[in-house]
Amino acid sequence: MASQTGTIVQESLAALLKDSSFLPELQSESREQAFASLASILSTPNKIHKAFLRISMDNGEVVRIPAFRVQHNHTLGPYKGGIRFHESVNEDEVVNLAALMTLKNALHEVPFGGGKGGVVISPREHSAKEINLICQKYVHYFSDILGPDKDIPAPDMGSGDREMDWMMAEYKSIRPGEPYRGSFTGKSVVNGGSLGRREATGKGVYFTFRYMLYDFLKEQRTFLSNTDNKFAQTLLSYANKPMSIAVQGFGNVGSVAALEAHQCTLLQNKVVSVSDRNVMLYNSDGLDIQALIDFTTKNKGELPTTEEQLSLFDIKADIHDRDQVLDLDVDVLILAALEDQIHKGNMEQIKARIIVEGANAPVTGEADQYLSEKGVIIIPDILANAGGVIVSYFEWLQGRETQFYSEEEVFKLLVEKMKGTMDTILPQYFGDPFSLRQNCFIHSVMKLVTVMYRQGKLY
Ligand code: GLU
Repeated sequence: MASQTGTIVQESLAALLKDSSFLPELQSESREQAFASLASILSTPNKIHKAFLRISMDNGEVVRIPAFRVQHNHTLGPYKGGIRFHESVNEDEVVNLAALMTLKNALHEVPFGGGKGGVVISPREHSAKEINLICQKYVHYFSDILGPDKDIPAPDMGSGDREMDWMMAEYKSIRPGEPYRGSFTGKSVVNGGSLGRREATGKGVYFTFRYMLYDFLKEQRTFLSNTDNKFAQTLLSYANKPMSIAVQGFGNVGSVAALEAHQCTLLQNKVVSVSDRNVMLYNSDGLDIQALIDFTTKNKGELPTTEEQLSLFDIKADIHDRDQVLDLDVDVLILAALEDQIHKGNMEQIKARIIVEGANAPVTGEADQYLSEKGVIIIPDILANAGGVIVSYFEWLQGRETQFYSEEEVFKLLVEKMKGTMDTILPQYFGDPFSLRQNCFIHSVMKLVTVMYRQGKLY
């Protein structure tokens, strides 16, 4: 498990070891031994599968493409997690992302374990036909380890409903007569996908922020005012105050979160900046997010980069270098692009007091510690971006029952689930010195440890 996740898991176990009210059945020596076993179980994936997909390109060339499926832990149910299509995919990264899925599912009481896949390609450089072949080959090579009750992939960066539809179709043809609807989630709605799955991650990202800044703050004001916790002070400083928001990444997660923020009537938000891999756009009066989404829909998902493009859609914004989004003087930064965006090299320049992790692992361990010490509230990935896997779970359930929910029902269930988690975690966070990430990890590890203990896995 790559360093940050591993370190926090170890710290969580150390905290639980000392807490005598946690698993009191485990006493003295056997307790120490059990916790040492847990550290090794949780810091290592159960299995790493690797294949070199043989792909015949459109030009006739035959190439080998590295592909992974990491099955981290299945204590709570079948392995679950997306398949990333990106040129920077590597084994360590997939292992770390798979571990985060185990913790994410445990945190939100989603009855799945954690897994992750990856294919080392730049999806933009391949034709639809080549991607189709890559999807088929991925399923072909890994078909023995996948399945609705074994390991259920979903979209991740660079993949979407098109890829899941193709993969499910391949799975179905490899295993005729077997259940197949739950083999992949994040499929298109006509093909058995769930309404609302595409927007689920972005909506969930915004919901966690809104719930803390509006609902929780309103209900718990007295409690927050009576503690000297530094995060509570940060939260209180935003009570009834207008907030400027910058969003890094304008894909499936960033664009939806930006639109939610823009349309939210409960908070006085102004989305002043959005960015993607080409550009950062800024307007201190707030950007027209809907117009930007309309532009990206017609332009291969990319934001406008010239004055002409902006005026064509009547968008008022200044054009800047993409990386400037991170050190803007804003209240809130929603990180919905890649991992490792805020790190040792730029953490001192960050001005936002609230950071929301829409992407997985966008803040490094060092930066997280530095900013948390300064009272910056960081809503971590496993808490904020779980909307995707939560609605994947609803999709899996709907596929089993072949009964489908309305979009309204899906969002209602999503919000209920995330609210349940927030209600468990937030009072602890604002009462103790740990960061929100540490609180979430402790909660997840507690759940996993308890179930492993009950299943007799610690002997
Ligand atoms: N790839 C998404 C994540 O990182 C969704 C996973 C899923 O739906 O299984 O959470």
